[in-house]
Amino acid sequence: MNNGKVIARIQHPTQSKTNKKILLEQIFKYIEKLIKKGKNISGIGIGIAGPVDFENQKILNPPNVVILKNLELGKIIEEKFKIKTIIENDGHLMTLAETILGAGKNKNNVIGITLGTGVGGGIVMNKKIIHGKTGTAGEMGHMSIDRHGRKCSCGSRGCLETYLGEGGIRKTSYEFFNKRIRSYDLHQMARKGNSKAIQAWKEVGKHLGAGLANVVDMFNPEIIIVGGGIARGAGELLMNPAKKEMRKNILSKSAKKTSVVLAKLNEYAGAVGAALLLNQ
Ligand SMILES: [Zn+2]
Repeated sequence: MNNGKVIARIQHPTQSKTNKKILLEQIFKYIEKLIKKGKNISGIGIGIAGPVDFENQKILNPPNVVILKNLELGKIIEEKFKIKTIIENDGHLMTLAETILGAGKNKNNVIGITLGTGVGGGIVMNKKIIHGKTGTAGEMGHMSIDRHGRKCSCGSRGCLETYLGEGGIRKTSYEFFNKRIRSYDLHQMARKGNSKAIQAWKEVGKHLGAGLANVVDMFNPEIIIVGGGIARGAGELLMNPAKKEMRKNILSKSAKKTSVVLAKLNEYAGAVGAALLLNQ
């Protein structure tokens, strides 16, 4: 990125199920390719799908990319390329990017939540990420809305991720169709008027709304930005029931008006946020 604009991009799936060495070589290769596309690179920013101890620049325990556990990835990359490097949680970064360049422009008090394979989030106040003591503030995906609910990969029960992540949506689809349906197919079916699919999204939306109500009661934000591939695909099928449920559950009357919007940046929001964070 240069002056808030993306000048080059590469997209490639992460080999998350291999081992640390293969994954690192893969990361190095794509960083090299990107470096060649720019000049005078002043920094490398990296978003991680999992909790990051920002102060110590260390990945903690990502439930979906287990091989990165405890890796000091920032340090490794900085040593390899001799370029200033920072790592940060991708939900935090998406929220920062949306605040500076996307749906949260001109807002000072922003909460982001991203729905994809996993569910992440972030808190940005006065254009700065709130990290908390060990870097894990805003881990919305593992906020439990039902302690007898679905079992989560983190060991807890009823986490938002178990309803709003790709796996969670497939589980919900099973309750309606007796088979697991991908979120993509489920919103295609709903758009064609399949009433059970519409109902399934309503159910998913209610879970999102219950989580968002907790977030509003806790932070009283100006705006909540919902991002990630699932939200982008399902759009209003998900957002309308979510807003309705959220407003029903919020305590304070004035906070019921909190706006909830879809993210404006695309799947690169985390990467864009990482580059923006380097400038702060
Ligand atoms: Zn969990």
